[in-house]
Amino acid sequence: MKKLPRVLIVEDEPAIAELIAVNLRHNGFSPIWSEDGESAQRELDAVLPDVILLDWMLPGQSGLQLARKWRADGRTKAVPILMLTARGDEPDKVAGLDAGADDYITKPFSTQELLARIRAVLRRRAPEQVADSVAIGALALDAATHRVTFEGQALKVGPTEFKLLHFLMKHAERVHSRSQLLDKVWGDHVFIEERTVDVHVKRLRESLGGGSVMVETVRGAGYRLTAQPQALARA
Ligand code: CA
Repeated sequence: MKKLPRVLIVEDEPAIAELIAVNLRHNGFSPIWSEDGESAQRELDAVLPDVILLDWMLPGQSGLQLARKWRADGRTKAVPILMLTARGDEPDKVAGLDAGADDYITKPFSTQELLARIRAVLRRRAPEQVADSVAIGALALDAATHRVTFEGQALKVGPTEFKLLHFLMKHAERVHSRSQLLDKVWGDHVFIEERTVDVHVKRLRESLGGGSVMVETVRGAGYRLTAQPQALARA
């Protein structure tokens, strides 16, 4: 028999947790419920789930603190995290993605939306297990070790910027619109604002510094990673 995907629900409101658990069970998942970070940690220490549904507002450690902690931990860092946020938390969503969450979903949400998002993060995680490396000019990215170097020097790149850079490097010199990037890097782009892409491109540029490989803005079209920047080509 096929193993059912295990979903750890970290949610302090029993009514919400129960509703999610029932729906997941009916749709071929195996849900486990923890009401705070401490009991969730015990679950993670025992058996790793396939995905974590993490409420933002929790007693004790917040969802944001937990996402950061689990991303930094070698044992849990590859487990996808889907954050549950309340309406009106918009500025926090970027912080959540930055802390290492793979996606977020705003309460109240429909069962269909939740299932679609869980399936999307599970799909997106799968190909990432394949290790591959890519180099453009003096810029090199090693997916297996999660390292980015420029002229052999390690660059500090956040988790989302890493995924973005990986995609851009695999498809260098090509222009990608914001919605294409959301689709390819984040998946299920309908749920994330295009502005999120700009935020992460800005951070990626800061990480890359003034090197000869850069993320160029192509007016009205989107972004491209290039080793022949327009500014230099014209000069
Ligand atoms: Ca809560």
